[in-house]
Amino acid sequence: MAQAGRFDFAVGELRCIAFADATATVAAEGIVVDVPLEQWQRALREHGLPTTEATNYYNCLYIETGECNVLVDAGWGRGTERRDGMLAERLLAAGVAPADIDIVIMTHFDPDHAGGLLTAEGDLVFTSADYVLSREAWEFWSDGARVASLPEMRTAAARRALPLIANRLEVVEAGLEFLPGFALIAAPGHRPGHTALAMESAGERLYHVGDAVGHVVLLEHPAWHWSFDSDPAQAERDRRALLGRAAAEQALLFASHLPFPGVGRVTPQGDGWRWQPVHRAPGSLPE
Ligand SMILES: [Zn+2]
Repeated sequence: MAQAGRFDFAVGELRCIAFADATATVAAEGIVVDVPLEQWQRALREHGLPTTEATNYYNCLYIETGECNVLVDAGWGRGTERRDGMLAERLLAAGVAPADIDIVIMTHFDPDHAGGLLTAEGDLVFTSADYVLSREAWEFWSDGARVASLPEMRTAAARRALPLIANRLEVVEAGLEFLPGFALIAAPGHRPGHTALAMESAGERLYHVGDAVGHVVLLEHPAWHWSFDSDPAQAERDRRALLGRAAAEQALLFASHLPFPGVGRVTPQGDGWRWQPVHRAPGSLPE
């Protein structure tokens, strides 16, 4: 169906839609650290990307299992410093009202993932949902001193939202199936408690890697460090583990910040992986 910012696909019997929540233009310099600028710019050029400005994509994944409606992350929303999160509007245009969401799985609580949990007035958006987060995330957010160690702008959305969803939280151990075919995978390099997600149905599998692959160039250069990662060395290990699994299993991959719709497959190439995005359907461009 031709709707802006929407891409429909399937994983076995799971009906999936990738939504473009937002895009942002940022300086290309500084996206990776510890890489000479010249080398970074060459890699961008090889991808046909501009070397001065870069586009950040913010993709969210919605899944209908047949039993329940699942959303992975809530996007920017309109109650954070960004006011243009389109997810709720695009869900509605696809026939999904906020109250239709039964489960929200949180990869982590940065504002571009958790901002959309609340309205601009500070009310819960997904009023019928239970909220899944990793055990590690729960331990982190329960520890005031650790929370205070992150910049305020990274924790603001979570600190507003967590009290409102506290009695709806489902704290999940990595590796355990919490919904048929769904399991979390620890990937704490991006943020403490950050989690990826494996989804399986009818012999097909998708890995939602969240922010473990923050830029398309990091697929080919997994050792390059994304400047937004809290623990770059761990983030590299997470990236290699997830991409290695996805390639070995020929599974689909979904990433929050790869070019919309952020869905594709990876094949081994040199020290990293080659990205093979799925064909983008007409009308599914972000704008
Ligand atoms: Zn993010």
